[in-house]
Amino acid sequence: MGGIERFYFIGLQWFIFIVFIWGARFYPRNPQPTWSKDTLLNAGVNLWLHAVKLFLILPLIFHLDIWYFQHHGNVPRLFKLEGMDPVWQFIAIFLVDDLLVYWVHRAEHAFPFMWTFHRVHHSTEKMDASSAERAHPVESLYEYLFVHFVYSSGTPLPVLVSYVTVRWISGAWRHSNFDFPMSSRWARAVNRVVNNPHFHGWHHVNHPSAYGKNYGSMLTIWDRLFGTHLDTDKKPEGFGLDENYALRNRFLGLNLLIARANPSQRPW
Ligand SMILES: [Zn+2]
Ligand SMILES: [Zn+2]
Repeated sequence: MGGIERFYFIGLQWFIFIVFIWGARFYPRNPQPTWSKDTLLNAGVNLWLHAVKLFLILPLIFHLDIWYFQHHGNVPRLFKLEGMDPVWQFIAIFLVDDLLVYWVHRAEHAFPFMWTFHRVHHSTEKMDASSAERAHPVESLYEYLFVHFVYSSGTPLPVLVSYVTVRWISGAWRHSNFDFPMSSRWARAVNRVVNNPHFHGWHHVNHPSAYGKNYGSMLTIWDRLFGTHLDTDKKPEGFGLDENYALRNRFLGLNLLIARANPSQRPW
């Protein structure tokens, strides 16, 4: 994806965020202002990550692919989908990518090196749709490295664009402050398969009972399959990080991983 297309995607992505942030004010889970300092910070981080992807990550992956092509005569990819019906291409990419991201996410919580960067995503204490975009550039780099093996499967651009749009809508939806009514039967049925603000909200709860749970992206089936799901009707609240991991809630604090000053440890 080049420069012009990226502006189109930034516009689409922000439109999705604004719809979910604004919409949640009419049916909120946690009482909070619709727009906050964290929303603005996440918007800044989003623009920064787009620039890093465009000028650093994508050229790097492109050159790695060229190098691989020169040595092996093809591009690195998990499977080939050329010639397949577009609907099946979409379904195949959806399932394989979602399963891959489940395991990458699980690894991010298991390996200290990956957690160092992934905790930027967990650093917000006020969740809204824009929280989906809060990440460290190093996390974006290794996530792109993994998922590009799926995206370079020979799938036509319209299928990929449709898939990425669904991925963004899912990210905005599961991080949003919409109240997901677990008391209703239909919500429970949806929660068994599709990720939502309740299920993913619990992944962000800073409490030992929620640690190591609900890693899924778009689907909740992987957590159920691999035994990492947390089923509770209680509303998720108390988001963020432990004091030993907490980061300064500023642009530089998140990018340079500056620890948040603990008032009780200040010498003055
Ligand atoms: Zn996580
Ligand atoms: Zn999240």
